[in-house]
Amino acid sequence: MLAKPPEDADGAKPPAKPCPVCGKPADPATLPFCSKRCRDVDLNRWLSGTYVIPGRPTDPEDAE
Ligand SMILES: [Zn+2]
Repeated sequence: MLAKPPEDADGAKPPAKPCPVCGKPADPATLPFCSKRCRDVDLNRWLSGTYVIPGRPTDPEDAE
């Protein structure tokens, strides 16, 4: 078997961007992440409030 894949520069896909979570090359199936695991990690960051959404409407007195 071939050890290296043939070079197909013509019509080749663009180089994958690194995973924003771990920096590994992203997988087309789970873009922009390299795996479902990293996608979950990023999602958890959102859910845990690591990412702050500016302009978030918050009313301290809005409670029933
Ligand atoms: Zn990753």
